[in-house]
Amino acid sequence: MLTASAAEQLPRNVLRLNWTHSFLVVSLHLCGLLSLWFWPRRIDLALFLGLYLSTTFAIGIGYHRLLTHRGFRCHTWMRRVLAWTGAAALQGGPARWAAIHRRHHQMTDKPGDPHTPLMGFLHAHVGWVMCRDAEDGSDYRELVPDVPGQDFWIRVLDQGVLFTLPWLLTGVLCYAVAGWRGVLWGTVVRTLCLWHLTWCINSVCHVWGRRPNATRDESRNVWWLGLLTLGEGWHNNHHARPASAVHGWRWYEVDASGYAIRLMARLGLVWKVVREPRL
Ligand SMILES: [Zn+2]
Ligand SMILES: [Zn+2]
Repeated sequence: MLTASAAEQLPRNVLRLNWTHSFLVVSLHLCGLLSLWFWPRRIDLALFLGLYLSTTFAIGIGYHRLLTHRGFRCHTWMRRVLAWTGAAALQGGPARWAAIHRRHHQMTDKPGDPHTPLMGFLHAHVGWVMCRDAEDGSDYRELVPDVPGQDFWIRVLDQGVLFTLPWLLTGVLCYAVAGWRGVLWGTVVRTLCLWHLTWCINSVCHVWGRRPNATRDESRNVWWLGLLTLGEGWHNNHHARPASAVHGWRWYEVDASGYAIRLMARLGLVWKVVREPRL
């Protein structure tokens, strides 16, 4: 763990709220409470599962391993599909997401890390989303000149609130297929689940878990997050070699996103895959 003196150097202005983000986080959780009264039907569960899997893969494979860490190359159409599907997870546009995440890798568990648990577990989990310091990643934009690139269809997702468009479209889809209960489970509850699991990578994976690699930070491998986030829970491996497209390095480290990338490489859909180290 970092010393108390290092923690004291961290910014003190975490209580300056980002009202837009705070409103979104609080109101979506309040809407999610309706799920206690309106249990899912089969169609609602199908929408939940289909959209959970597609957006989780798109965040892990697209936003994280492709756009942020350039772990592999692919065709332009696939970058666009991954970016738009990733935006349907309501975690911001790809450039903003990548900027904040690259900053996290640059300053992991040091002053300047947007979401280190050294500023409190709750801050690392959700507080950083609701406070102003990391509100738009604009301070870190110079870290991601390559992310939107010249591609209009990816750049548009970082303009104002346009990143919400793919998410709103999933709401329309759910409503068309299964009405308001479909929206509740396929859009609201699905988004809340992925929010918390993604946030767990920043909070839980820097506090509890195994550290098979001697990295100079507090990153950990957490098996149940590895399963639920389709491979992102092998976070200590990831900090040890960030560009590696595969995060599960041992046979028991289940990494569904890594398997998907390997399969796509075999099919010729992706190439220049950055390999994991030989153990
Ligand atoms: Zn981390
Ligand atoms: Zn990363």
